[in-house]
Amino acid sequence: MSLPTVEEVHASAEPTDPTAPRPVTSTPRLELDVHAAVGAFSALADALPGTGVHYAVKANPHPVLLRSLHQAGCRFDVASPAEVKAALAAGAQPETLVYSNPVKRRSDIVEAAALGVSLFVVDSPQETRKVAQAAPGSSVLCRLVTSGAGSDWPLSRKYGVSTAEALDILLLAAHLGLDPAGVSFHVGSQQRDPGAWATPVAASARVFAGLRAYGLRPWLLDLGGGFPARLAGDEPAVADYASAIRTALRASFGSDLPRTLIEPGRGIVGEAGTVVTSVVEVVDRGGTRWVFLDCGVFTGLVETLEEAIRYPLRTSRDGGPVGPCVVAGPTCDSADVLYQNEPRMLPLALAEGDEVRIDCAGAYSTCYSTVGFNGFDPLPTTLVGQVV
Ligand SMILES: *Cc1c(COP(=O)(O)O)cnc(C)c1O
Repeated sequence: MSLPTVEEVHASAEPTDPTAPRPVTSTPRLELDVHAAVGAFSALADALPGTGVHYAVKANPHPVLLRSLHQAGCRFDVASPAEVKAALAAGAQPETLVYSNPVKRRSDIVEAAALGVSLFVVDSPQETRKVAQAAPGSSVLCRLVTSGAGSDWPLSRKYGVSTAEALDILLLAAHLGLDPAGVSFHVGSQQRDPGAWATPVAASARVFAGLRAYGLRPWLLDLGGGFPARLAGDEPAVADYASAIRTALRASFGSDLPRTLIEPGRGIVGEAGTVVTSVVEVVDRGGTRWVFLDCGVFTGLVETLEEAIRYPLRTSRDGGPVGPCVVAGPTCDSADVLYQNEPRMLPLALAEGDEVRIDCAGAYSTCYSTVGFNGFDPLPTTLVGQVV
């Protein structure tokens, strides 16, 4: 038998598009079910009719996800020119975007405005003046501070002002020729309490009343994100959040309701992703079992910092006897430990090479990955489930 010719080899080779992304089968990887994310969007949109749903792109900026969400009627919340471009590439119209980063580089505001963005969030007089200069005539929302109580990932005091300060800032905005559109806030991510919206909605209504007393006509209330992924299964349902928000709006605004929007990130993509990891090794450290995974804090699981987000774990050894384990990541950074203060119950049979699936990890897992941290790549994504 003679060897095939080069032509024969080429003719029999499978047609491959060298630019097509190949499914990653090695670990670690994020398995992202875009169809599930679109389903979560629809559930939120159906529960809050009349409220605009703006997906927070930072939660997971995968282009197929953005395109599918846009096609389903979802809008976007962006925080940088790169995110503006990602939203536009997905098909969004720039005037539908909320640019929600309260502290922005001047050049970024100029760039976003040139791309057609016309709604910006501010939370200081300095930033308001900057927007008035860099994006004259645009609409602004002033961000109110919240306590973050009830959330697993509170947003601290980095952003937001009091109602009195918000009123001053929006009056300044009007004075500078901006449209003082209204107020925004965020109740903290993975918010477990549907009642958390009541206090900031009431505060927002006070700001609206203050503006109206000056003859201004605020029209937009941005209710932020915070809708949880079902990590433990005991989180309230979407309907509970929707009815608590509706009740809060009626209690504070009466029949004079402003236009509203929400900015869910985790609530749309959290449950749609699973981080698939392999056990690097299981070792005994003075009587404590340490399970080392090939994914860690610096390669996708940053939300395990301070053990804030307690992801559900599934393993290829589930069913057998379990014991408490510390769970650690693969880099040599001593902070690369996922769960230690409250160890996880994992199968005693777990060993090198076994698979550990980290569920509800579709949000904030591919976006923080540091390129090449300690030589470990950022988390690659493989699309699973129904093709959209
Ligand atoms: C991150 C962020 C969101 C999304 O928050 P989730 O808790 O993931 O819903 C919404 N709005 C703003 C301004 C954000 O910074």
